[in-house]
Amino acid sequence: MFYINGTRNVLPVSWHTDNNVARLPTELWTHAIGHLSCKQDLTKVCLVSSLFCAISVPFLYHTIDVHISDEAEWDNHRSLFIKLYEPGFSNLVKMFKARIGCDSVHRSPSCYCDAVDEGIGRVISTLKNLKTLCVECRLCGMYDRHSYLLDGIPTRHLEAFKFNCKKCHGPNNTGGSTFGSKHLFAAPNMQTITSLNLSCQSSWLVGGDGTLKTIVQRRDILPLLKSLVYDVRAGETLLGFPNKFLVSRPITRFYYPGYLRPFEESTYSCVNLECLLLLPDWYLTTIIARQPGVFAHLKHLGVFRAPMDEVVDNNRTENDMVEELRPLTALKHLHTIEITHWIAPAQYDAFEMSEQDSYAFFEYTESFLQRLADEHPSLCRIHIGDIFRPVDLAMEGMLWEREPGGVWAGREIPPLDKWDVLNGMLDVI
Ligand SMILES: [Zn+2]
Ligand SMILES: [Zn+2]
Repeated sequence: MFYINGTRNVLPVSWHTDNNVARLPTELWTHAIGHLSCKQDLTKVCLVSSLFCAISVPFLYHTIDVHISDEAEWDNHRSLFIKLYEPGFSNLVKMFKARIGCDSVHRSPSCYCDAVDEGIGRVISTLKNLKTLCVECRLCGMYDRHSYLLDGIPTRHLEAFKFNCKKCHGPNNTGGSTFGSKHLFAAPNMQTITSLNLSCQSSWLVGGDGTLKTIVQRRDILPLLKSLVYDVRAGETLLGFPNKFLVSRPITRFYYPGYLRPFEESTYSCVNLECLLLLPDWYLTTIIARQPGVFAHLKHLGVFRAPMDEVVDNNRTENDMVEELRPLTALKHLHTIEITHWIAPAQYDAFEMSEQDSYAFFEYTESFLQRLADEHPSLCRIHIGDIFRPVDLAMEGMLWEREPGGVWAGREIPPLDKWDVLNGMLDVI
């Protein structure tokens, strides 16, 4: 057997010829090389032989993850972008993630943002076989960025789309659009999407009020949508709960980072949901206790947080948690819950917590998990994660799973954002 790691290539010398390599069927090599997840390793395998190179290149270009936050990083990516203009490489890309940012609040003559956005757009317009597209933008806010999202994506097989941009305005803005009357959902690549993360300004949506209401009746728009993150804002203000849209599409997995009041008035729209994620607020269990039938299909629910008394006492907090979660016994299919690491103060308001604040941690003991299991027989997975911090700054998560014998086993997992969770990452991690 051989192994290759990031620091040294330990293939025996005799294996470095096509002759010897050819002794094993190509399918076996493809299988083995497909297990390499590090791009540096794949690049080294490319150097071994022409056969290995042919096998490795599709794995190398399957996922392109671009992270540009300063001019030097932009320069570093230029050669990759030039390569991706060649169909031989661009046709191999199935997943493209771009995280682009800039330190300026406003566009300045020295800003590289226009060039970066244009470059990203030009690359995306070559990716015919793309399945997943993530654009996370922290560029200085402008009215005419990301125009490539409106019609410049050639794929007709896009399955997952994340648009996370809180500053740039879309084509329906009132601040001097250069886009004309196009809107995000009119783009042809939108029709095949099953998972959508909309974290953007309302001016990207349809209609003067920038909501989803106007596309509810348009059955040709997002007809296959199953998972939705809905964090659409007008300036800083989150738009209302998309109740009619939820029931008009086959959506079963949903995250809404808003107040529970509009949610409470729209609970009927949750009747098809299997996974529901909201910001931590114990009022959620009160809502569920009032009308458990509406939530009967739920298998996955969160996010909860441990309440804190004036004196931090783990036993007392455990009792409070068990008490607070008791209304969930009405949900017979519930197998997964999400909890935060944090213990929040009694006067806690989810919207006042910031990523800079520090809060106490709750120790999840096995006896506590056992008490939960006794009360909730269907519960077999608890994901404890860091909320409010972006994934790249968040602390490790914990995943507790109940094994067939009834024993809980916990392990650390990388931080996941809500979209990762909606997309089923906990099932495969
Ligand atoms: Zn800029
Ligand atoms: Zn943007």
